[in-house]
Amino acid sequence: CGIVGYIGNKDAKEILLNGLNTLEYRGYDSAGIYVTDDQQKGHLFKAKGRIATLRESVDDQVAAHSGIGHTRWATHGVPSVENAHPHQSNSSRFTIVHNGVIENFAELRDLYLTDVSLHSDTDTEIIVQLIEKLTETENLSTLEAFKKTLSFLKGSYALALVDNQEPDVLYAAKNKSPLLLGTGAGFNVICSDAMAMIKETKHFIELMDGEVAVLTEEEITIQNSEGKTIERASYTAELDA
Ligand code: GLU
Repeated sequence: CGIVGYIGNKDAKEILLNGLNTLEYRGYDSAGIYVTDDQQKGHLFKAKGRIATLRESVDDQVAAHSGIGHTRWATHGVPSVENAHPHQSNSSRFTIVHNGVIENFAELRDLYLTDVSLHSDTDTEIIVQLIEKLTETENLSTLEAFKKTLSFLKGSYALALVDNQEPDVLYAAKNKSPLLLGTGAGFNVICSDAMAMIKETKHFIELMDGEVAVLTEEEITIQNSEGKTIERASYTAELDA
């Protein structure tokens, strides 16, 4: 299982699918990608089984320069298209991919989401529904709603989030699951493992537990849980592309 994200000047679909292919060795039962096209419209593609099956379901006509992707190793809910990631909030404004396990997802669902209809059996869906709920009921920005939701979560996660109202931004966060940010000229990436993006870049920044990253094609900003901006240099991964 693994996650990938891309924002920049190249064909996001191809980079995400190739990245997921590289993560195949980690094991998976389903996969999916979400991309934003150049008219700012979002497209979600999911498939049970192999990345090759996902690739066949992806519309070649979509021209996209940002998106997120996931290979799933099911922990909550059977392997199926409904349970495959990315997951979306009910208005489709927010789209998320998640690796890990949210231990208190049932408590959070019963506490905050009794009036929200859920469309999967995953622990992941409650994260994205909660983000949407907080933006609506507490009038929070996406970053604020993301951080507040993270403060509720118990368990492990590597996350990448897209808000369709801000298609030029990707959000990422982690706790006890690996997540790297990769940097390049005119693009930035997110990945569980440097191998997934080594064809694009050798320069990676490690994200630490509790931190939140905001990526555009030009820059990456990282904050810790207190909201303090963190400066962290990238390292060079010595892997063969
Ligand atoms: N717990 C999540 C699920 O079952 C994520 C699993 C994973 O890490 O792939 O959908």
